[in-house]
Amino acid sequence: MKINLQEMTIEELKAFAAEKGEKPFRGKQLFKWIHGGAADFDEMTDLPAGFRKLLKEETTIRSAEIIRSQKDSRDGTEKFLYRLGDGETVEGVFMKYRYGNSLCLSSQVGCRMGCTFCASTIDGLVRNLTAAEMLAQVYEAERKTGEKIGHIVVMGMGEPFDNYENLNRFLRLLHSPEGRKMSYRNMTVSTSGILPGIRRFGEDFPAAGLAVSLHRLTDEGRSEIMPVNRSYPLDELLDACREYTEKTGRRITFEYALIRGVNDRDEDVELMKRRLRGMLCHVNLIPLNNVEENSFTGSSRARAGEIGEKLIRSGIPATVRRELGSEIDGACGQLRRRTAAENME
Ligand code: SAH
Repeated sequence: MKINLQEMTIEELKAFAAEKGEKPFRGKQLFKWIHGGAADFDEMTDLPAGFRKLLKEETTIRSAEIIRSQKDSRDGTEKFLYRLGDGETVEGVFMKYRYGNSLCLSSQVGCRMGCTFCASTIDGLVRNLTAAEMLAQVYEAERKTGEKIGHIVVMGMGEPFDNYENLNRFLRLLHSPEGRKMSYRNMTVSTSGILPGIRRFGEDFPAAGLAVSLHRLTDEGRSEIMPVNRSYPLDELLDACREYTEKTGRRITFEYALIRGVNDRDEDVELMKRRLRGMLCHVNLIPLNNVEENSFTGSSRARAGEIGEKLIRSGIPATVRRELGSEIDGACGQLRRRTAAENME
């Protein structure tokens, strides 16, 4: 197996260069190339030819390739299927916003959280993504679109706090002042509610954004659709969220996927008002994307709009997520499943 340079820090690359008989500063040059968008070693013209040859033979700087993409012609949203070194696949979505381009990326192949409405978790967790594989989703998307990505949201397949060490390395590499220089403010991580992860993230990345998938506001109801709630119940989760906002001063985003008849009733809205009032938060309402394998149906956009208004009127900031990529089925995990099914035919 080739040595993966994409996920090494400058210090690690310096040590690597020294090991190969090169001056340590070559490590820093390498880092700048890798995170400055170099597609291969031939571009690294300030490295000695002999070293470049060795790098080509023994190492790699590309950890994923885009094997399928679907573009929504109306809003420019583009969905990618990435193939990793071992043939596994994950999804990412490129989105254009007024404030710039954003990529929604995956943190695991599959997922073990078991949320009943989600396509990513149907076959369980296959494996964690490495930091390099998360970075590659950003860099390959930039190459494919020819556009710069200014924001990332770790909201694709997988539970990022179930893969904390790799997530941690990935975010730091992407932020590195000698490399890609993405501000932590432009990074958001979404969790199903793993409490130790929320606490640690608040300490490690106080400037980054946190999104928490709530979806229901009683323990009984939430445990039914999100098994993680049995380990980390609602009261504790909301307490941890309050701690997080107090410590970081950052507004938390609550994801709320609207499921017809399950969590979009008037009583659900009343619960939301009661439990979220006074919190430094923002509720992101999104009608559930219908997934073939389960029986849930998304609420109508009209109902989503109504709920949004009710929340706003009671002082809780809320938006209905703009329907991006409606032509290309946005629900994460679906493109991967469909491609796997086609390959079996
Ligand atoms: N595991 C993390 C991040 C990945 S899921 C988390 O749970 O937050 C990203 C978001 O998509 C979560 O809010 C998740 O609940 C939501 N989601 C999953 N399946 C969906 C579907 N079919 N329609 C709409 N949102 C969905």
